[in-house]
Amino acid sequence: MTTWFSDKVEKRGSEIEGRGLFCVASIQAGETVVVKGGHVFDRKKRDALAKTLGPAEIQIDDHLFIGPVTQEEREASMMCLNHSCDPNVQIVGQITFRAMRDIDPGEELTFDYATGDDDDWEMECACGAPCCRGQVSGRDWKMPELQRRYAGKFSDYLQRRLTKQSA
Ligand SMILES: [Zn+2]
Repeated sequence: MTTWFSDKVEKRGSEIEGRGLFCVASIQAGETVVVKGGHVFDRKKRDALAKTLGPAEIQIDDHLFIGPVTQEEREASMMCLNHSCDPNVQIVGQITFRAMRDIDPGEELTFDYATGDDDDWEMECACGAPCCRGQVSGRDWKMPELQRRYAGKFSDYLQRRLTKQSA
């Protein structure tokens, strides 16, 4: 039920935001680094939970999310994977996160929220990547440029929509 972490990563303070997930031993491209755990719930329940737990879940299907449902479960479920416009981790399927390239100790693990979210939020991005979009939102998956860049690297439910769109 709780999130699984590779023993090559740890949570600590991040310059991007709050806490992040950091590499503590060399990770090779293709290695699984995190598998998100929690309860599965719909959008209505997610919205209710968000009032007390904040953003702690990820979307796994058109109407479904996975994450903690109590304050006690929150820490063990939190991945602390910050967003980057130039990520080193990608989502595979619905809940598995894999290194897109080799990652060295000390590097923060990040993924592009555009490849996982279809939601109403916006934030200023401080990822520092040369290709930083500056402003990112929960609808960035709709951007043709990102659809090309992350072809085949979207969360399963988004990937299905994109495949249908291009069929
Ligand atoms: Zn950015």
